[in-house]
Amino acid sequence: MTLAQQITERKKALGSRLCILAHHYQSDAVVRHADILGDSLELARRIDGLTAEHIVFCGVHFMAETAAILARPEQKVHIPDTGASCVMADMAPAPLVETVITALNREGARIIPLTYVNSSAAVKAVCGSNGGSVCTSANAATMLRWALGQGDGVIFLPDANLGRNTARTLGIKEDEIKRLDVRGAGSLIAPASPAKRLYLWPGLCAIHAKFHPEQITRLRAAHPEALVLVHPECSPDVVNAADGAGSTSYLIKAVAEARSGATIFVGTEWNLVNRLKDRHPDKDIRPLRTALCSNMAKITEENLARTLQGLDTASPVRVDENIAEPARLALERMLDACR
Ligand code: SF4
Repeated sequence: MTLAQQITERKKALGSRLCILAHHYQSDAVVRHADILGDSLELARRIDGLTAEHIVFCGVHFMAETAAILARPEQKVHIPDTGASCVMADMAPAPLVETVITALNREGARIIPLTYVNSSAAVKAVCGSNGGSVCTSANAATMLRWALGQGDGVIFLPDANLGRNTARTLGIKEDEIKRLDVRGAGSLIAPASPAKRLYLWPGLCAIHAKFHPEQITRLRAAHPEALVLVHPECSPDVVNAADGAGSTSYLIKAVAEARSGATIFVGTEWNLVNRLKDRHPDKDIRPLRTALCSNMAKITEENLARTLQGLDTASPVRVDENIAEPARLALERMLDACR
């Protein structure tokens, strides 16, 4: 029996006890088994309505943690490879985030932390405890506007590119933004200044950092009619050079709405670009360059099949309640603000 057949059989046997969620950056071999496919925001929103006893999350670890926080206590969340981390999330360890917030606020300012969903549960908990929240690339502008209304300024983490790109869409000026140097955290972080509205954590996505404005200049010379769409985890220079930038949901919609016959270069993770290419054979869809997330690729048909076989005895993803409670508060503030 092939792996695909094993997974299909197991799904049939488990019936409504099982729900498989997959992120758009998963491979086709995994995605074909998903009950729900989506971006971080769509998948987080769907957890509340799920009745399955076992939720298997095909994505990276922070996504499974988010699902475990939002799921009911009797539900179990599993990830086929617990080593599927996110390079960007790892750039913001929770104790350092707490130290930096304390340093910014030490002269009485109230700087609100807003973390991209690509962060650990512990970082979301720090945000929840400090009056802050969470955002995804799909709702970053809504949530940054929300956070700016809660205090004297915002610290956005871990992705400096998403923070700066979102600030630009809200009209926040360059001189109101400060990129933090967190290497000397604590005593070397200056207290918040009334002149700054936004502090950026210096994190990035190693995959989206592979795109450069020069690539767009070169392809425009060869394909002057082409449409260039990129994800906002790309640098502001790449976003400026593109025709459009937005979340994975935005990219999917923009490609679907482009005219038949259009040439479209897409700057995001390769699996999604490849799927768009298959889904729209009437358009010439190409990656801006091949950029694969090696952590997303850790989820395979093989470990998905193994996970499904061992579900009843496996240890699910657990988040301690002292972290889950403030992290849930941060996530619920986002879900409430974006209803
Ligand atoms: S594509 Fe980038 S942000 Fe997304 S999981 Fe991979 S490293 Fe993290």
